[in-house]
Amino acid sequence: MTYPKTQLFIDGQWQDAADGRTLAVFNPATGKEIGRVAHAGTADLDRALVAAQKGFEKWRDMPPAERSKIMRKAAGLMRERAGAIAGLLTQEQGKPLVEAKGEAMAAADIIEWFADEGLRVYGRIVPSRVNPAMRQMVLKDPVGPVAAFTPWNFPINQVVRKMAAALATGCSMIVKAAEETPASPAELVRAFADAGLPPGVLGLVYGTPADISNYLIPHPVIRKVTFTGSTFVGKQLAALAGKHMKRVTMELGGHAPVIVAEDADVALAVKTAGGAKFRNAGQVCISPTRFLVHESIKNEFATALVKHAQGLKVGDGSLEGTQMGPLANPRRLTAMAEFTQDAVKRGATVAHGGERIGDAGNFWQPTVFTDVPLEAKVFNDEPFGPMAAIRGFNTLDEAIAEANRLPYGLAGYAFTRSLKNADLLARRVEVGMLWINMPAMPSAEMPFGGVKDSGYGSEGGPEAMDAYLNARAVTINNI
Ligand code: NAD
Repeated sequence: MTYPKTQLFIDGQWQDAADGRTLAVFNPATGKEIGRVAHAGTADLDRALVAAQKGFEKWRDMPPAERSKIMRKAAGLMRERAGAIAGLLTQEQGKPLVEAKGEAMAAADIIEWFADEGLRVYGRIVPSRVNPAMRQMVLKDPVGPVAAFTPWNFPINQVVRKMAAALATGCSMIVKAAEETPASPAELVRAFADAGLPPGVLGLVYGTPADISNYLIPHPVIRKVTFTGSTFVGKQLAALAGKHMKRVTMELGGHAPVIVAEDADVALAVKTAGGAKFRNAGQVCISPTRFLVHESIKNEFATALVKHAQGLKVGDGSLEGTQMGPLANPRRLTAMAEFTQDAVKRGATVAHGGERIGDAGNFWQPTVFTDVPLEAKVFNDEPFGPMAAIRGFNTLDEAIAEANRLPYGLAGYAFTRSLKNADLLARRVEVGMLWINMPAMPSAEMPFGGVKDSGYGSEGGPEAMDAYLNARAVTINNI
């Protein structure tokens, strides 16, 4: 399958950067250059900003039902094109085709849910405490043009969660998607453009991430900033946004605990958490990472998880039957080697994996560590790769304390047959999303986001709409 040159999308037009600059895009399964992406400079960003303001004024004033119709059409186009889009996504990101197609199809579901939710942005009338004839109104208005920064692990999904909510409320948006995976988010934008989105409502740019965020965030046109990526970068962008009093949503890193209680269904825990662990080669912000298993079942669990890891077919995501693709970029290979060396040095056992596969492409063995000391890097820094680290515990309180030890608080998982345990976990584990006896199910209608260093704000449910709305109080004195 051919891979396109990705252009910028500004004011309804696909275009090269004004100065013609481009960046290379690589296939992580081969390490070879497959195409180029336009690199925006200040002149391009200025045009995108003017267009975003113009697009906002038009989109804001369009009846929600008309906006919803355009969004639903875009969703339909994503579904129609999902197979072709998946081919591009796999080439640039590495994940198996079936996961890539799932991502494109899920984008359609997300767009539709928000298209409907956009029909229900209601204000309210509040009775006056002094005069019944005085009309106190709460009006909900879109915040204005949004700057969105998204990463390479889910090149479509990370964009669509932001875009669908922003568009549904009447905002315009400039997206800086990831330079490493540019073609698939461009297809998402194309679906909206082909569905009849007015020019300027969506802009898509690529370039040098820090230059673009440093230019867009302080710019007076931009009223809201939304970022998905590492906690390290998120803190920098949130600080910059704070300096310029811009509203912010931050969806940052995690280090998800998986608590497998004494009374857990071990087979279910292994199948569910094992499947989730190696999906997208572990490059998932809600990926299970710290496996906390009751001492009485720890060996049984570890043996079964190793068997699961051994059975995975690792390879080029575009090949039939591949279950785990390469890591998305060579930086992750370096990180995997560092995590492994550190874990071994501190006394952990490599029960499976722990090495690079071959020397072409970014393949890493599905890896399972057992008896991991708490000080090991893999139990403290987000591994963001196909690594499961297992430790035992004796009491549930001990496991909860470990789950809450890190500054992260994004996702958590637990397995128990006891309602009492489940209730305790639901109350005590400090995460934005907790799934008990099941895999992650981050649906459009549920809040998606973290607490603590994993960020703030939500990218799902009505809360995601609120993130793009201002509530204004208008009172009319009926004289
Ligand atoms: P990184 O922190 O350099 O970049 C993460 C993302 O942020 C990239 O898409 C990058 O283009 C963007 N970015 C970086 N600096 C930026 C800036 N100043 N302004 C705007 N955007 C900026 O790290 P990386 O090597 O690409 O990824 C590694 C780490 O990032 C992982 O260990 C993981 O913690 C985190 N990450 C998290 C998610 C997530 O879903 N939360 C996704 C991808 C990466």
